[in-house]
Order: sequence, then structure tokens, then C-alpha cells
Amino acid sequence: MRKLLLALLCCAVFPAISWSQVKIKYTGDPLPSKAMGKIESMMGHMWDYYSSMGLKEAMEVELKVFKSKKEGYRYMRSLYPDDPNYIEQPHDKTMGGGLAAVYIPKKKLAVLLGIEHGTDEALTIIYHELSHHYTRMLFKGATYPPIWLNEGLAEHFECLKLKRSGVVSEFPHANKGKVKTLIMLGDLNLEKFLNFTQKEFMEMQRNEGQTCYSLAHVTVTVLLENLSVEQRNTLISQLQKRPVNSKVSDIVASIYPGGLPALEKEILEFVSR
Ligand SMILES: [Zn+2]
Repeated sequence: MRKLLLALLCCAVFPAISWSQVKIKYTGDPLPSKAMGKIESMMGHMWDYYSSMGLKEAMEVELKVFKSKKEGYRYMRSLYPDDPNYIEQPHDKTMGGGLAAVYIPKKKLAVLLGIEHGTDEALTIIYHELSHHYTRMLFKGATYPPIWLNEGLAEHFECLKLKRSGVVSEFPHANKGKVKTLIMLGDLNLEKFLNFTQKEFMEMQRNEGQTCYSLAHVTVTVLLENLSVEQRNTLISQLQKRPVNSKVSDIVASIYPGGLPALEKEILEFVSR
């Protein structure tokens, strides 16, 4: 009975965090135990964050690690034989190709290719991919999350560092610079950007020197800084409920105080800091 009382008391004191909801299954090459500890701490932090936006259950995510990028490519080709993204490129053969990662929503699987290139760098990429898992779970059964939101949140978590004092956000200066240049050149069309499909996002990413991820990161950061929790959650629920062909920019404009002109102004202010 005392045990039962104690258990009930614990449930009452810690209602928000349930470790059963942040399960991770490790497969492939082993990760150092210190790295696993950091991943699980970050997953707990992500759970707190996403559950405050309405996520009810996160479901188990599998993290498959390949020490060698070449082995990783081989695995990805076994899943997607016709996808040109997983055909080894010449620079991969000569330089090892660095780290790469991908999240496969259907399988709830994050694959990390080439951990031999460094554990710290791998951790940031793992945080990025795990954020995709949480975002997809948040939009489960709803319309797909807009690409800028999905990548912006992933970039946000990628840039978090676990310190003794807690979680610290380190916004890369270079990302601000890229967005500032885009605005100064008059090349930012925020309305168009908010309505981008994945294909359009990737095209801009290729054509504009990797600016898209930075712009997504800055946009999400400014929204997080300037919207109240209630406004942020309204935004998420309206995006979840939106009809497939509706304009995401209209939803953002209706919730952000001052609409898109104010958002654009505050984006410029943020990158100028
Ligand atoms: Zn991503």
C-alpha cells in the first residue's frame, strides 16, 4: 500500500515526463555510452518541448548507426535501389564524404552514415534527425508539416548543446549572415518561402548556397521568440488541420502579430543582432 501511495505521489509530482514515451532503439554499430546518455537527455528535452505543443505519444524511434559511410550507403541502397541520393558520389570515395543522416518516417528510423568522422558532430546530426521524428509524430494523422517548420525545428535542436547548467542554444553566426545577405539583396520572398513544397525548398537550397536551412532556422527562432505559448500552439493546430491546398503563409499571417511584414522585419532585426 505504501508503495502504491508512493507511486501515485510520483505520478502527481512528475506528470509531464514519461520515459516510456522517449524510447530509442539502437541498431548497427555501437555508439559510446557517453554519447547515448547525451542523446537520451536531449530526447527528454525534446519530449518536454513537443508535448507542450500537443504531442501525446512519441513512439519508439530506431537509430541505426554506420561507422563507415560506405556501409551506410549500401544499406540505404538496399531500401531505395533507384534513389540517386544513395549512389556513391566521386568525392565520397576520395574523401570519405563526411557524415550524413536521414530520417525515414514510414519506418520511424533515423540512419547515421559515417560516425567514424567524429562523435560530437554526429550528435548534432542525430538531434536534427530525432527532431524530424518528433515533428512527424506531432503531425501524425494530420496534413504534412510545412518543410520550413520541419527543417527549422530540426536546425533548432541541432544547435542545442547539453551543458552542466542545462540546455544552451548556440545560433551559428554564419546562418544569420546568409539570411542577412539574402534580405539585403532583395531576394527574400517570405510568403513564397512559407508555402514551399519539399521539392521547391531543396531547389532553393541547391541554387542559393545552402540558404534555405538557415532561413528556416531563423524563421522558427523568431516565431518561437515572439509568439506566446498559446499563439504558438494555435499556429501548430491550424497547420495540422489545414486543407492540403491551403496557403501556409495565410495561416502564419493570421496568427503572427502584424502579419508577414512584421515577421519579415523581425527576421531582419534578428539576423542583424
Ligand atoms: Zn532535416
